[in-house]
Amino acid sequence: MITTLTASQLAEGLRRREWSAREVAQAHLDRIAAQDPHLGAFLTLDTQETMRWADAAQAMLDSGEGGPLCGVPVALKDNIVTQGVRTTCASRILENHVPVYDATVTAKLREQGLVLLGKTNMDEFAMGTSTENSAFQLTRNPWDTERSPGGSSGGSAAAVAGELVPLALGSDTGGSIRQPASLCGIVGFKPTYGRCSRYGLVAFGSSLDQIGPFGRTVEDAARLASAVTGHDPMDSTSLQVPPISLEGLKDGSLKGLRIGVLSETMGDTADAGVRECVSQAIEVLRREGADVREISIPSIAYGVTTYYIIAPAEASSNLARFDGVRYGLRQEGKGHIGMMERTRAVGFGHEVKARIMIGTYALSAGYYDAYYLRAQQVRALMKRDLERAFEDLDVILSPTSPIPAFKIGELSADPLALKLLDVCTIPANMAGCPALSLNCGFTNGLPVGLHLMAPALADEKLLQIAFAVESALPNATGRPPMP
Ligand code: GLN
Repeated sequence: MITTLTASQLAEGLRRREWSAREVAQAHLDRIAAQDPHLGAFLTLDTQETMRWADAAQAMLDSGEGGPLCGVPVALKDNIVTQGVRTTCASRILENHVPVYDATVTAKLREQGLVLLGKTNMDEFAMGTSTENSAFQLTRNPWDTERSPGGSSGGSAAAVAGELVPLALGSDTGGSIRQPASLCGIVGFKPTYGRCSRYGLVAFGSSLDQIGPFGRTVEDAARLASAVTGHDPMDSTSLQVPPISLEGLKDGSLKGLRIGVLSETMGDTADAGVRECVSQAIEVLRREGADVREISIPSIAYGVTTYYIIAPAEASSNLARFDGVRYGLRQEGKGHIGMMERTRAVGFGHEVKARIMIGTYALSAGYYDAYYLRAQQVRALMKRDLERAFEDLDVILSPTSPIPAFKIGELSADPLALKLLDVCTIPANMAGCPALSLNCGFTNGLPVGLHLMAPALADEKLLQIAFAVESALPNATGRPPMP
C-alpha cells in the first residue's frame, strides 16, 4: 500500500515511474478521507490545490527536474503560510485568512516538487502541549484515540504517525515538534536556531521559534530537513550556512560515541515506564560500544520557569499585530480602541490571552528587571552550562516527554501540569541547539520518545547519530492499531 511507504521509498518509485505524483497524492487523500474523521489532524484540505501541486511535480519528474523528494506529499502546520491556501494558526482571529505569499519553506517545497496535502491542526498560535487549545477541533493520537497526540504540532504528528502523509513540517518553540513526535512514536527534529528560515512562520517567540520536519524514519526527517534549510535573506536571524547535508548520514557508528545522560530528567518526575524504555535503549547503546555517562546540569531545572517568561513576553509583542486592521477578524466596537478590544476579545482563545497578559506584565515598567531581565540571565546561564557540557560530549540524552500520551482532558484543567511536560525539550530552544526525538520503545502500548541534543550547528552529526541509534533499536518501530 502506497501510504505505508516512507518518503524515501515513494521518491524512488516516483522516479522509476511505478506511480505518478497524482496517484501518490490520491492514495493519501483517500486514506485521509477514511481516517481523518477519527484523528482530526487536518484543518484545511483542498483537493484541487493538491492536484495542481501534483501536476507541477509530475512535470518536473517528466523533465528530470525537481528535488530528491519530488512528488512526495507533505503536510504543513497551519502557522506556516501558504499562498492561496487558508492559514489559521488554529485561531478564530485568522479563521478566514488566506496569505498572499509563501513562507520560505513553502516556496522551497514548491520549487523541489513536493506536494502539499493540507494544513494541520495545532494549539492556537502554537501555545500548548496537547493540541487541545485549537479553536476549531481536537486531534487524537493514532495509538489511542482517547489520548492527545501532544502539541503544539499535534496535527502534523498524528497525520504522519497515522500514515495520512509521509512527511510534515511543524514548528518548535519549546518542544512542539519533538514532544508530539514522542507521543505519536515518530521522528521529530528541531534544527539549530537559524538553519531553517522563519520567514512566513507566524511568529510566537521569535528568539526560540524554529521550523522542522516529522517523518516515520530518521532518514525521512533528515531528507525533509535538507529540503527546507539554508540561508534566507528574508530572515535576519537566518545563518549563513548551507542547507543540511545528507552526506554521511548512514556512515555513523555508536562505537566510542560520548553520550551524556541528563540525570535531571531521569528521576522520579518521569513515569516509570518511560524511564524503563529509555534505560533499556541506553543499555543497547552501551553494548554497541557507546561511552555513556551520567551528567548533571542543575540550571536545566529552571528551564520551564524561564521559558514561560521569555516566550509569553515575545508573544505579547508579536501578537500585537492582530488588531482588526491588518489581518483577519474585525469586530466593530466604539472607536478604533473599542474595535481592537472586541476583535481581540472575540478572536483569541483563553490560553493566548493568558500568555499575552503574562508577557505584557513581565515586560512592563517596574517588573521588567525582576522577570524578563532575570529570565534572560538564566537563559544565558543555561546556554553556557550546555556549551560546557558539550566540550566532552557528542550528544545529551534524555526522555523527550516525562510521560507517554495522556488522555484528552486529563491535564488541561491544570495548566501547570501541561507546562511541566516541557522540561526535557526547552533547553535546546533556550540554547539554540539542534535536537531530535525518535521512538525507543513502548509502555502499555504507548510510544516512548528518546531525546538527543547536540551542540549548535552539529545538525548533520546529530542526524547521523540518530540514524545509528535507530538502526540499533530495531524493535522500537511499530504501526498504530488503525483499521
Ligand atoms: N508547550 C510549549 C508552550 O506551550 C511549547 C510550544 C511550542 O514549542 N510551540 O509554549
